[in-house]
Amino acid sequence: MADKDKTFDNVTEKMDDTKVTVEDTGKKEDDEYEKVCFICRRPESVAGKMINLPNNICVCGDCMQKSFDIMNNGQIDYSQLMNIPGMQFINLSDVEQTVPKQQKIKKKKEKEERKPLVDINHLPAPHKIKARLDEYVVGQEHAKKAMSVAVYNHYKRVATDTMDEIEIEKSNMLMIGPTGSGKTYLVKTLARLLDVPLAITDATSLTEAGYIGDDIESVVSKLLAAADNDVEKAEQGIIFIDEIDKLAKKRNSNQRDVSGESVQQGMLKLLEGSQVEVPVGANSKNAMVPLATVNTRNILFICGGAFPDLDGIIKERLKKQSSIGFGAELKDKYDHDKKILEKVTLEDLRKFGMIPEFLGRLPIVFTLQGLSEDMLVQILKEPKNAILKQYQKLLALDEVKLSFDDGALHAIAAKAIKKDTGARALRAIIEEFMLDIMYEIPKDDSIGEVTITREYIEGTGGPVIALRGQKVMRIGS
Ligand code: ADP
Repeated sequence: MADKDKTFDNVTEKMDDTKVTVEDTGKKEDDEYEKVCFICRRPESVAGKMINLPNNICVCGDCMQKSFDIMNNGQIDYSQLMNIPGMQFINLSDVEQTVPKQQKIKKKKEKEERKPLVDINHLPAPHKIKARLDEYVVGQEHAKKAMSVAVYNHYKRVATDTMDEIEIEKSNMLMIGPTGSGKTYLVKTLARLLDVPLAITDATSLTEAGYIGDDIESVVSKLLAAADNDVEKAEQGIIFIDEIDKLAKKRNSNQRDVSGESVQQGMLKLLEGSQVEVPVGANSKNAMVPLATVNTRNILFICGGAFPDLDGIIKERLKKQSSIGFGAELKDKYDHDKKILEKVTLEDLRKFGMIPEFLGRLPIVFTLQGLSEDMLVQILKEPKNAILKQYQKLLALDEVKLSFDDGALHAIAAKAIKKDTGARALRAIIEEFMLDIMYEIPKDDSIGEVTITREYIEGTGGPVIALRGQKVMRIGS
């Protein structure tokens, strides 16, 4: 009998053990996040130690004290509250999930545990960064080079964190290039290679605080979300602000410009580096969201924009210069200059409507070229995840070989150029005629190879189809 009891004890012990481990893993996950006061929404690092209530609810000492004070002063007669029609007491079990994870802030790690995201000893040299970018981004040699060096210097600055008399300046960048030339793509590729969090925002949605639209700090909020609400990780991330040209000062306007010049003004301190209080898990500050303090000193800001009509401003300046002295006869030389954007100066950007203080905080300015037909053909077939490779892989799963002849690629590129949206148009065009191929080919098991020809793209012929084990016949080549 005694023995039986013993075995029973053993079982209960074991059961207890399992219980402990389950609780432990739950705790571990929670340990990563800070607690937030249920009443005032301040995180534990700000409000001090939290008092745990059932159902994952925490209340800070201040709020708890306030509640006691109110009760002690007798300001609230609870018996009366019950009699007010429509008045309900909160059932704590109903509010179990009121603090969503996306609103929790990751706890700061102990000092000695901190290490920079990008290790200075393993920081890839600029030529290596560029070589990796080359794998994905076609052309834009100058932009890739400028970017690689800027990023290298930036992370050197972050990793060494020296604040002696020779302070390395921040390498914020301004990218100028037509739509679809690869601005966003470059930044995305870069962030992926460096494995740092990236937030992409659109400057058009930003307005001065208090107006309809997103507050300027919301860009940091997005980065925080991209970094899993880990403040330290976010502080070393990259923020890409697209359509920055839309913030240009409006000419001949007497109204208050809440979404243009004021946003440029508001961004100054962010770009330079300052402590900002940002809402966690939301775009604007309000009483219901916790706030986190993020230092933007080590955040790399990259701004991009198409700057339409900037070429006109540059031409005007160059023409004015050349009309003085011997160069006077070359006045129309710039009208056909495809690389006119490369000649941009800060003065031109200022004329465009960017304020000097803003430009001063973006020391690295470079331009991207509009894509030519040859570049578009390269984009179709060369990058690691080129569109053609994607379709070839899809059809290879049906054991069909897909190929495009050169004429077809140039015909696609020529169509894309007409749409004037850069490489963006390529996918739409390919999608259009690949639809039939993707629909028809799996019907017939005997098809072994499909070749897309220029005639098929231009609507004057069809693709060349070869049955399994036969030689391919190319039309028109
Ligand atoms: P934007 O300059 O307007 O930000 P994007 O970077 O969004 O243009 O480009 C749109 C798409 O076109 C990208 O997702 C990418 O697939 C393709 N693309 C654009 N430029 C290039 C390039 N130089 N090399 C490879 N792909 C490119």
